[in-house]
Amino acid sequence: MTARALGAPDPTDTRPRADIEHEVWKAGVAAGLGDARDLPLDAHLHTVRSPDADAMLEAYCVLAAERGIPELAITDHVDFDPSMPAYGFASFADRERDVREAAARWADRGLAIRFGVEVTYEQRYEDEIRRWLARHPHDYVIGSVHVSATSPYKASNVARFVAGRSLGEIVGPYFDEVAAAARSRLFDTIGHLDFVKRYLVPYVLPADLAAAPELYEPVLRALVESGTALEVNVSGLRQLPRETYPAAPIVARYRDLGGVHVTIGSDAHRTEWFSYGLGEAYRLVTAAGYDALAFRRGADRVAVPIRKAT
Ligand SMILES: [Zn+2]
Ligand SMILES: [Zn+2]
Repeated sequence: MTARALGAPDPTDTRPRADIEHEVWKAGVAAGLGDARDLPLDAHLHTVRSPDADAMLEAYCVLAAERGIPELAITDHVDFDPSMPAYGFASFADRERDVREAAARWADRGLAIRFGVEVTYEQRYEDEIRRWLARHPHDYVIGSVHVSATSPYKASNVARFVAGRSLGEIVGPYFDEVAAAARSRLFDTIGHLDFVKRYLVPYVLPADLAAAPELYEPVLRALVESGTALEVNVSGLRQLPRETYPAAPIVARYRDLGGVHVTIGSDAHRTEWFSYGLGEAYRLVTAAGYDALAFRRGADRVAVPIRKAT
């Protein structure tokens, strides 16, 4: 079973995004993507400490133990734009306590739980993020570009924004922010490198971006030059694009450019999404020639060997 069973987005499907994505997820479960097991790490997970997630950390731990996934990074959202939902949502102390207590409960049961964070990056908040990260140490830090209320990619803005623009002009604002996030050297990895794909369906399809790999070039070079890891984010396999963020050819191009650090995250927000699609991401990374994932456990940067993906 592979992600190809998910097909491609249907540009004539005008149902609400949540309805379509629920169907994509169900199709993925039916295709065997639902409960990957015996994989060494999931480095991107959200709990109830994120405003858009409803999973209990303990539920992830139970599933991880059952499915043989011995290491998790809990990476709840932290936003710096006051209009964004995770701004002030959970305190550092609450997030850290949740994770450290779970780590202590599970340590002698073969499960390692790391205290991570997913920071929403915007160039205008870079100094503030830098100061905050310096005062709030985490085991592992993801920097991601998200879609804010004023973003051109927001559902209410995107049709007007794409009209009359070239593909390069359409994705440019997103990729410029992603490249800046990498160049900031603030982050261990950049989350879901081309998440903008989700917001551009049906105006721009993943196939359109796949046909223009040159648009990724500055972003990939920024990752390589800064030593920031490329995350292969599974959530695209249950969202409109029906492929990982980024897709396999971009991972291969990153390697060709000299990229040595890759990581993998499911980006689960619900208990039932735990480990969904993770095997696909491991297969993809292995096929690109990597035999370990880049990770950080606080002071220690580590390479997590990839066992043979099932
Ligand atoms: Zn994200
Ligand atoms: Zn996330």
